[in-house]
Amino acid sequence: MATRPLEGKTALVTGGSRGVGAGIVARLAADGARVAFTYANSPQRAEAVAAAAAAHPIRADSLHEQDIEAAVAQTADRFGSLDILVNNAAVGTFATITDLKMAEIDAMLTINVRSVIVAIRESLAHMGSGGRIINIGSINADRTPFPGQSIYATTKGALASLTRGLARELAPRGITINNIQPGPIDTDANPADGPAASTMLGVMAMDRFGTAAEVGAFVSYLAGPDATYITGASLDIDGGFGA
Ligand code: NDP
Repeated sequence: MATRPLEGKTALVTGGSRGVGAGIVARLAADGARVAFTYANSPQRAEAVAAAAAAHPIRADSLHEQDIEAAVAQTADRFGSLDILVNNAAVGTFATITDLKMAEIDAMLTINVRSVIVAIRESLAHMGSGGRIINIGSINADRTPFPGQSIYATTKGALASLTRGLARELAPRGITINNIQPGPIDTDANPADGPAASTMLGVMAMDRFGTAAEVGAFVSYLAGPDATYITGASLDIDGGFGA
């Protein structure tokens, strides 16, 4: 039987209780990694994901720096190392800049960008050569076809820049960092049968939403032994949304 590609590796995924994050947790675990993941508001769903993947759930709100610090420390303590960090947790409130409340803008900036910086900074204390950092950005960083996406797109553009900059800092340590940019993926945040679905399909090459499992497979590839020469990249998985 072939060795599972992530056997012996340890991973932390933020926002693993639902959607794309749950798909990432499932795939990393299936490929042999020991996986911890954070969640904030969905404890029952977190327990279900943890049970299905034999993963370790950690309640940690990405709004709070201390929660992220504790989640990284708990993961490193439990597993004795941290090889793979996946920054997936994010929120999107879609409205024009004049209609958004400042609290909604602050939440997007804090959860989608600041918490990613904190998680990376904390994880680096435990990550050695061969480490992999994977951010979940969005194709909206490059293409924002509809009004009401500007601040969310700003946060995802920041991840692309952060990824490029940190690639320069981390390559000497043998650590890669990449940014996956999904297009429409069928989740609670963006259901394939939701009111905006037909509008999105109208600007895409493929006539369907993607799945969390498809993103999980891409993450596993970037975390795995075949992706040694990829760093600083923003890579689309978007059904041709950005084509
Ligand atoms: P969902 O809203 O379906 O799930 C979000 C996940 O993040 C949940 O597990 C949630 O946990 C967690 N989360 C949210 N806020 C916090 C917080 N403050 N602290 C900790 N965890 C939190 O989103 P998706 O699965 O659709 O999106 C996942 C990622 O993919 C995001 O980065 C998103 O920007 C990106 N993406 C998604 C696309 C899509 O079409 N779905 C397209 C492009 C990018 P809980 O419920 O426990 O709080």
